[in-house]
Amino acid sequence: KKKVAFMTSGGDSPGMNAAIRAVVRMAIYLGCDAYCIYEGYEGLVQGGKLIRKMEWNDVRGYLSEGGTLIGTARCMAFYERPGRLTAAKNMILNGIDALIICGGDGSLTGADKFRQEWPSLVKELVSTGSLTKEQVAPYQHLNIVGLVGSIDNDLSGTDATIGCYSALARICEMVDYIEATASSHSRAFVIEVMGRHCGWLALMAGVATGADFVFIPEKPREDNWEEEMCQIIKQHRHWGKRKTIVIIAEGARDRHGGKITPDMVKNLLADKKGLALDTRITTLGHVQRGGTAVAYDRMLATLQGVEAVKAVLDATPETETCFIAITENKITRKPLMSAVKETQEVAKLIEEQQFDKAMALRDTEFSD
Ligand code: ADP
Repeated sequence: KKKVAFMTSGGDSPGMNAAIRAVVRMAIYLGCDAYCIYEGYEGLVQGGKLIRKMEWNDVRGYLSEGGTLIGTARCMAFYERPGRLTAAKNMILNGIDALIICGGDGSLTGADKFRQEWPSLVKELVSTGSLTKEQVAPYQHLNIVGLVGSIDNDLSGTDATIGCYSALARICEMVDYIEATASSHSRAFVIEVMGRHCGWLALMAGVATGADFVFIPEKPREDNWEEEMCQIIKQHRHWGKRKTIVIIAEGARDRHGGKITPDMVKNLLADKKGLALDTRITTLGHVQRGGTAVAYDRMLATLQGVEAVKAVLDATPETETCFIAITENKITRKPLMSAVKETQEVAKLIEEQQFDKAMALRDTEFSD
């Protein structure tokens, strides 16, 4: 019987539990044994109770739970070869050579490194006497498939990551709450949202809530942004709007790489010689990551989880490692490392203030 293992790694995101459920049940449905690795790579390195066989009923109720019920962690040991060697040993002892990982670009990079190194890790386990030739014989190759779990929607090659629509929904709900009190007092609110290098959450939240002004990392404002923002907000107030909402992505920068902070924006809006608005700052923080997943993320995680099991069973030593994407509403398989590489290059270009190049790169479609 083929054994398929699943783990969640890196930052958690709503919808990860739907992916666990889908993978476990699809693996069982296809006649495999399903395993979960608890606590991300830490579970692989520590082994023991952190690698558990899962039955159909073990994942009952998972669709409506937030976060990840099998835990996630950052694992320093997995960055180093000795950690990965122990991980390989634990996998072989449990009879696992098919692994599906749901995480961000870091977790997926680690997974690919592990797969590439696998043959040499197996060799070392034998040469050091850790395992016998007979023990490792059936495990000469490791198949892995990635699922992208992230609220940031920051991975190239997929239209949506598992969790991004839940985070967006949560942000919109919070902005609605803030708007009510802002309107009552005729106040301005500067709201910081998550997203790392990616402005997707901030931009979409701006569109969905009708914010007055939005700052994102990918498209910094012109140097006169201070006048521009004040002018627009003044106009909105003139038209009778009793509330002002400015959304800032946590990675927002000006054209010269300087961070745009909520305090800077607040001081401008509150300036007695200018708009003189009663202004407050709200940093939404981890409420964006928590809570239950919206229907879209449950659906995405389920469809992608099903496809991930099929893909990991299809994989051969010759096939390129893939991750499961959604492209123009279709569930697709895409080359994992091209997507990770492009994501990291885009982030680097943004850091170097090469915004046009970054956006052009993000728009290109790498081939399957
Ligand atoms: P995310 O997956 O959300 O991007 P991290 O970058 O923190 O989160 O990665 C999660 C875990 O994946 C790390 O704690 C580490 O165990 C593993 N990992 C990340 N990058 C690598 C790498 N280059 N080599 C090996 N393991 C890695």
